[in-house]
Amino acid sequence: MTEEYKKSMETIENKQNNINVHKKKKRKNKITTALIILLLLISAVIVAACGVAFGIVIGIVRNAPDIDPESILTTLSESSVIVDESGTVIEQIHDPNENREIVKLDDIPLYLQNSFLAIEDHRFKEHFGIDIQRIVSSLWHNYKVGDSTAQGASTITQQLVKNLYLTNEKSWRRKIIEMYLAIKVERILSKEQILENYLNTIPLGQSSYGVQTAAYTYFNKDVSELTLAESALLAGAAKSTVTYAPFKRYNLNDISDIPEEDIVGYVFIGSVQYACVYNESAINRQHIILDRMLELGFINEAEHYAAVTEDMHTALNPGQTKLEGISSTSMDYVKEKVIEDLMAAKSMSYEDAENYLYKGGLTITTTFDINMQKSLEDSYDNFSTLYLGTAPAGDKPVAQDWRYFKWEDGKGTGSLDSSLNILNEYGQLIYCDKINIMDENSNIYLNAHEYSYDESGNLVIDSNKFDIYDSSIDIVDCYTVDDKFNFVSHTIGTLNIGSNFEILDKEGTKGKFLISKDFLDKNAEMFQVGSDNLLRIPKDYFFFQEKGIVQPQSAAVILDYRSGKIKAMVGGRDIEGSKTFNRATDAARQPGSTIKPLSVYLPALDLGYSAAFILNDVPRYNEEGERWPKNWYEYRSVKYWGKITLRKSVEQSINTNAVTMLETIGTDASINSLTKLGMIDAANPGNDTFVSQQEDSVHNDVNLASLGLGGLTKGFSPLAMTAAYGAIANDGVYIEPIAYTKIMNNNGETILENIPQTRVAANPEAASLMKDILRSTVYSGLSYRAKLPEEMGIEVAGKTGTTQASGDFWFVGFSPYYIGGIWVGNDNVQLKLSGDSGANARLWSGIMTPIHQGLAPAKFQLNQNLIPVQVCSQSGKLPSSLCSGDPRGSQVITEYFVPGTEPSQICTTHVSAVVCTNSNLLKSQYCPENSLEQRVFIERYAKYDPDARILDYNFQVPTEVCTNHTQWHYDQWINQQNSPDESSGENNDINDSESEDETTGIIEDITEPQ
Ligand SMILES: [Zn+2]
Ligand SMILES: [Zn+2]
Repeated sequence: MTEEYKKSMETIENKQNNINVHKKKKRKNKITTALIILLLLISAVIVAACGVAFGIVIGIVRNAPDIDPESILTTLSESSVIVDESGTVIEQIHDPNENREIVKLDDIPLYLQNSFLAIEDHRFKEHFGIDIQRIVSSLWHNYKVGDSTAQGASTITQQLVKNLYLTNEKSWRRKIIEMYLAIKVERILSKEQILENYLNTIPLGQSSYGVQTAAYTYFNKDVSELTLAESALLAGAAKSTVTYAPFKRYNLNDISDIPEEDIVGYVFIGSVQYACVYNESAINRQHIILDRMLELGFINEAEHYAAVTEDMHTALNPGQTKLEGISSTSMDYVKEKVIEDLMAAKSMSYEDAENYLYKGGLTITTTFDINMQKSLEDSYDNFSTLYLGTAPAGDKPVAQDWRYFKWEDGKGTGSLDSSLNILNEYGQLIYCDKINIMDENSNIYLNAHEYSYDESGNLVIDSNKFDIYDSSIDIVDCYTVDDKFNFVSHTIGTLNIGSNFEILDKEGTKGKFLISKDFLDKNAEMFQVGSDNLLRIPKDYFFFQEKGIVQPQSAAVILDYRSGKIKAMVGGRDIEGSKTFNRATDAARQPGSTIKPLSVYLPALDLGYSAAFILNDVPRYNEEGERWPKNWYEYRSVKYWGKITLRKSVEQSINTNAVTMLETIGTDASINSLTKLGMIDAANPGNDTFVSQQEDSVHNDVNLASLGLGGLTKGFSPLAMTAAYGAIANDGVYIEPIAYTKIMNNNGETILENIPQTRVAANPEAASLMKDILRSTVYSGLSYRAKLPEEMGIEVAGKTGTTQASGDFWFVGFSPYYIGGIWVGNDNVQLKLSGDSGANARLWSGIMTPIHQGLAPAKFQLNQNLIPVQVCSQSGKLPSSLCSGDPRGSQVITEYFVPGTEPSQICTTHVSAVVCTNSNLLKSQYCPENSLEQRVFIERYAKYDPDARILDYNFQVPTEVCTNHTQWHYDQWINQQNSPDESSGENNDINDSESEDETTGIIEDITEPQ
C-alpha cells in the first residue's frame, strides 16, 4: 500500500509538471491571423460559458445554508422531525452526539493534529479554504482514471463545513456550496479555530465524533495521552469510517471464524455485547500516514520507526461509550430504517445518512400510531399482572422456572444451588446471586477456598465465578430480585487483565488459572486480601451493569396487515434510553410451534391438502430409535391422539403430525413458503436469520426439527413472525412491514417514498382456510386465552408457541383489524420460564383489548369460493353409514374445502366387524352366537400395541380372533338352542341385516377366522 501510494503521488506531480511545460511551449508558437480568429471565437464561447456558469454558481450559493461560523459548535442546522400520519409531531430528532466532549487545541497532541494535516490537507496553513493546486491535480487524476469522484480534494475547512452543514452527496451543487462556505469560514475564523472545530466534530467510526470521543472509544484514554502511532491510526478513519475504523464491531454470533488474537475487547451497547476486532486495513492506512508525516518533516526517522513498530493489538482497548437519551425503541427503529434507506437510495455512508437525518431538516412520516403505541407501553407497565392473570406475589421471581431445584445429600441440584446461585441444565453456574459475588461496594470477592498463593507468590484462582477463555477471563453475571418480584440480571464483563494469566487446568470454561507475581507487583491495587481473608477485586477492573435488566424480557409488534404499517412496538420491558437492544426487530428467537402454520400447514393447504386431511398421531422414532418428537401431552398416560384432521392437529399443536405433514410436503415446499413470507432471503442468505445448507452444510435449519417444530439455529424476530402471520390474515398476500411512509426535505419536497414490497405467499382460498383454522385454534383449541372480551364481538385467530424446556413463549394472533405478535423469554435462554405459552395468549388479549376498544364488532369472512362439505373426521372422505355409528359418537363433521380438493370417495376407515363380547376380539368359529356383536371400528394400516398409548387404540378393529371360546362352549350353546324353551336370538337378524350393508363388504375377509 505504502509503495503504491508513493507511486501515485509521484505520478500526480509528474503530470502537473507536464501540463506546465505544454503551456509554455504553446505561448512560444507563432500566432497567425486565422489562429487569432479561432482564439477569439473560443474565448467568446468560454466567456459565454463562464457567464452561464457564474449564474448557476450564484443561484446555488444563494441557496446555501445560512451559517454563523463564530458559533459553529452550538448552532447546528435544522433538526428533523418524526410526525404521525395526521402530521402531529411525535419526536424532534436530536443528535445523540451533541454531548460530544469538546477539547481545546492545546490539549490535542501536535502529532495528532499533524496526522490529520499530513493525510487530509498538508497545505492547510497556506490555502484560503480551498486548495487550487490540489483540485487541479485531483481533477487530472480523476480524468485519467475515468471517475469524477475517485480522488477528493477537500481541505480540512471544506470537510468541517460538510460535517456541520451538508451531506456527503457527491454532486457539483453540493461541492460548490461547500467551497463557498469554506471560504466564508476562513475569512472569519483563524486556522487554529478551524482545526480545533474540525478535530472536535470529525466522525471517526463506532458512533464517535471528534478526537476526544474517539480516543475513549478505541483506546479508553484521554486524547492528550495518545501516542503518535495511535494518533495516526485515528487519523486514518477520517477517509472512511467504514473501511478504516481502528477496530470493527461484531455480533458475538458472528465471530466464530475470527482468530482469538484479533479480538481486542468487548463492548456493551444497550444490553448486547459486541466483540471489537482488529482491522488490518486501518493499520495499512496508519502506515501511509506515518510515511507521509516523515516525508513532510512532521516526524523524524526514529519517531517513524517507533510508531510503525508499536503493537496496535495491545494498544486498542475498547472503552465503554455512554449512550443515553430520551427516545424510545420504536422511534429509534424508525430512524434506523430511514438511515438504512437513505444509504441505499442516495448511496450514502452510515455516518452521512445519520448526519443527514439529524441535520437535514427532514420530516419523516411514520406509520406508528401514537395512541396505540402509548396503549401498548401502558400494557407493558402492567406486564406481570397481564401475563400472570393476577398480581405478582413472591416466593420466586415472576415467570421464572426454578422447579428443577432439588435438595439432596446436603447439596442443591437443578436450577439453584445451595447458595441460590443459578445453574443451567448441565449444572453450570450461569448467574450468581449478587451477594455471593459482590460486596456492598461492588467489588468482586473470592472466598478463602477459591484462591491461594503458590510458593513463588503467584496467585492461583480456582473458582466457578469465572469462565476461562484462551484470551480472556470472563466473570459470571449476577442477579438480584427487585421489589416487584422481577428477576434482574446484571452483566459483569471480563477481568481487565488482558492476557496476563496462565491456564492451569480447564474443563469446558471452568478451571484454575494463575496470575504471576510479576503482574501482581505491577498492579498492586487489583487484588487485595482483607483481614477477613476475602480476596477483593475493585470495581475499576471490570464492567458492571449496575441497573441490570428485568427478566423475563418481552417484545411485541402490532401491524395493520392490510398495509404493512407498523402501528406500535415494544423492544423490551422496563428498558430506558435510546439505542437499546430492540428485541422486536433484532432478537432472533426460536419460534417453537408458532412456526407450524407458516412452514407446514399453509404450504400444505396451498398444495391442495385439505383441512380434513387425516394425520395419524402415533409414535414416530428418530435415528437413535427413540420416540420423537414428543407432544406437549407427553406427561399424560395416553400420549397420542391417533387419527385426527389437519385442522385439529393445528388446534392441538401436535408435534408428530407437524413432522409427518412436513415430511409429506417436503422441506423444499416449506422453505419456499418461508421465503414468500419474508423470513428467508434466498438471494442474500446473510441477510436473514435462517441457516441454509449453503451457509452451513452440517448444522443448518433444513431439517424436520427446525422447520416442523421451530427449533431453529437462531430463529426469527417477533417482527418477522408477525409480518409472516400478517400474510395469512391478509388472505395470502405478504406485505413487508414498514415504519414510515415518506421523507420530505426542508423545502417540502418528498425525497423518499416508502412503498412496501408485496407478494403472493399462498392462494387466497388456502390462506382463508388457514385463517379459519387459526380462528378455531382460539375458539376450540389451545389458544382460548387469547379471546377478546365477548361483549366486544370481535373475533380473533392465532397460535401459541413454546420452545425447548420453555426457553421462549410466543403468541401471534390477529383480529379483522390488526395483527399482534408477542414474545416472552429470558435474554439468556438457559434460564427457563415457568408456566406455559397460554400466558402469552392471555397477555395478547390484555394488550389487544384496549387497542380494539371502540371498534365495531367484526367477524372473519371466509373466502366465498370455499365449499362446505360433510365428511368423516377419521378419513377425511365422504361419510358412509358407519361414520355416524362410531362408538365415540358421530364422526361426521362439516369442513370447508378449496374447490377441487373436496373428497369424492367414501370413507373406508370406518369398518364394522363381528366381535365376541367376551374377548372383544374377532369371532371364532366357537364363539356362541349370543356373545357376538356387530360393531363399528376404525381401520389403521399399521397396528399399534397398547403400550404405544394411542387415544383411539380401543376403537381400532381387532386383528386377533377370540380364543376364550372352544368347541365345548359352542356345543353347550347349540344344546341350549335345541332345547324348546329357548327362543332364537335377535342377534341373527341383526347380523343378517347389517351384512347387507355394502360398506361392510370388506369386513368379511377380516371376520373370516384363519
Ligand atoms: Zn368414516
Ligand atoms: Zn369368543
